[in-house]
Amino acid sequence: MEGALTARDRVGIQDFVLLDTHTSETAFLGNLKKRFSEDLIYTYIGTLLVSVNPYKELDIYSKKQMDIYMGVNFFELPPHIYALADNAYHTMMAEANNHFILISGESGAGKTEASKKILQYYAVSCPSTTLLDSVRDRMLVSNPVLEAFGNAKTLKNDNSSRFGKYMDIQFDIQGDAVGGHILSYLLEKSRVVHQNHGERNFHIFYQLVEGGEEDLLHQLGLESNCQHYSYLVQNECANVTSINDKNDWKTVRNALSVIDFDESDIQHLFGIIASVLHLGNVQFEADSKGYATLNKNTELRWVSTLLGINVQVLQEGLTYRKIEAKTDEVLSPFTVDHAIYARNALAKAIYGRTFTWLVNKINDSMENKEPSRKTVIGLLDIYGFEVFYVNSFEQFCINYCNEKLQQLFIQLTLKSEQEEYEAEGIGWEPVQFFNNKIICDLVEEKHLGIISVLDEECLRPGEATDFTFLEKLEEKMGSHPHFITHKLSDKKIRKTLDRGDFRLLHYAGEVTYGSKQPGERPSDLHHVHNIITSWWYFQTSICQLCFMKQFLLQSLSLFFPFVSFSPPLFFGTYTNTHATGRFDDVLVRHQVKYLGLMEHLRVRRAGFAYRRRYELFLQRYKPLCPATWPHWRGVAAEGVEVLVQHLGYLPDEYKMGRTKIFIRHPRTLFATEDAFEV
Ligand code: ATP
Ligand code: MG
Repeated sequence: MEGALTARDRVGIQDFVLLDTHTSETAFLGNLKKRFSEDLIYTYIGTLLVSVNPYKELDIYSKKQMDIYMGVNFFELPPHIYALADNAYHTMMAEANNHFILISGESGAGKTEASKKILQYYAVSCPSTTLLDSVRDRMLVSNPVLEAFGNAKTLKNDNSSRFGKYMDIQFDIQGDAVGGHILSYLLEKSRVVHQNHGERNFHIFYQLVEGGEEDLLHQLGLESNCQHYSYLVQNECANVTSINDKNDWKTVRNALSVIDFDESDIQHLFGIIASVLHLGNVQFEADSKGYATLNKNTELRWVSTLLGINVQVLQEGLTYRKIEAKTDEVLSPFTVDHAIYARNALAKAIYGRTFTWLVNKINDSMENKEPSRKTVIGLLDIYGFEVFYVNSFEQFCINYCNEKLQQLFIQLTLKSEQEEYEAEGIGWEPVQFFNNKIICDLVEEKHLGIISVLDEECLRPGEATDFTFLEKLEEKMGSHPHFITHKLSDKKIRKTLDRGDFRLLHYAGEVTYGSKQPGERPSDLHHVHNIITSWWYFQTSICQLCFMKQFLLQSLSLFFPFVSFSPPLFFGTYTNTHATGRFDDVLVRHQVKYLGLMEHLRVRRAGFAYRRRYELFLQRYKPLCPATWPHWRGVAAEGVEVLVQHLGYLPDEYKMGRTKIFIRHPRTLFATEDAFEV
């Protein structure tokens, strides 16, 4: 009938690989939009899952939905995060190897929500015993606790992760979830003392002040009013409509008892959190020589009581620098600016260490001490790429992490995939893609990158300033196409850059980094000190990132021999229009572009979803063909050819490489697996 819409017209296509006009970005976006308007937020690109944040509750995460996806082949049902979780789980069980789910996307895309859905799926769907239920509960409740201490409202997301999280879910040989381990990295500590306009501090501060029981607040010397604390009211957004701090407090308190925190742990934990709030209220005045003094030290007394530090020692530490000579100690007084800096540095350090302690405690409670063999499903959820009005060193670290993740992703999919076709002699038209290695090198290259320059400057205390740092960068990076400063740019761009800033053209967009925080008076010492402390912080994060990379590569290499490299991947796409639920074409197009989704589609469409070494393929499927069962006496490749002919594979469905068979679509392999059951 003319004008009638087919289901395909209405709901779009659930796997981009099947899109007719697969090379067109407009068609790609059209399909995404069509599905979004029908509340179909998930779409596949082969085994990759793309998601568009709906910013509303959808009835697709119920127990009933979980049951539907349990144990069903990946492509048999509409795309879903549960299909991805289930596929990882069953492949892990069948092949006894580790799997990783990389979650990528910019801030607010829905990465953390996706990782929680995956965890919930395992909690509900895996076999269960009473003993293991407690491990499971702890894994689930670790989320609200970590989010309370590590998430905050930002301009992009009311519950933005301000730390990176990698979580291992450990399974025993029966498939029971028996333990977990969390690695956290790069907590944005500067948020404790400073937040950009329209943003908040970490949730836990507001939860404690708004929701804390009267007795507890009394013991901690706290007022039940956020307006009282200068670390909480800098940007006048203590109250956010989407956040209920009082309720969240109850959830966190309850969760802490589930993860084995006893009353004394809890007292100490909140004592420390309260001490940070008191510290933020410590004010200094200048004496006649301009040096910092503390006139009213009620707040300091609270800090001293809560942390168990002598008040005199604390006061001295905040207002004097101790210089140790051979036999003597000399106290050099701080100016008010320096004292504020020292106070903030202490608050950041206290909070950072508390967070590390908290993660360790959670890990202890989820630890499985059984020596039996375990396999893991790893979930990586880092904070997304971000650009603010003022971007400090922490944004630099966050964006560099995203840059590295993208690089890792490119290496593991686009690059290695194509290299393998070449090595195996599979006819292949190379797909061009933007390789962000050039930007990673700009940051990390030995002796040449931004980090090296920073390192050199840190070795020249007293001489180096933010100005000399920038000068060196300009000298080394000069004509680099991804590096811009005021001095190096033309007139038009120069207007948009301050003299002390530098701009990087990241794979996901341009970001201008500046060392000055609004409201802080620049001073050379301050900046160099800032650089040095940041540098230590940065080194830790890099170590962790390298560790992650090593770890992923090692474990993934286990994965290669058995199946083609097709890690379940998830791409979140941020819509920035959550109030209206509108699909913002420009914003989504930008993300489709920088996540390289079109390139992935081209590789997936032209490529092969699975590959197996001939020997392994034959070993697994030889019972399905009389000519190969029980033994094939000839060359394995020839046996595989006989086997697939017998199974009725069409010529277009597979290719024979030098050492492996390549299968174009997973459904071919699923049908072969199903043949066992016939
Ligand atoms: P960041 O990098 O800032 O941590 P993120 O990618 O982790 O961002 P989330 O915190 O997961 O983003 O999601 C932001 C918000 O979007 C959530 O608080 C929730 O309101 C909404 N959201 C995300 N995913 C979904 C979903 N599947 N269904 C409904 N709402 C969602
Ligand atoms: Mg998050």
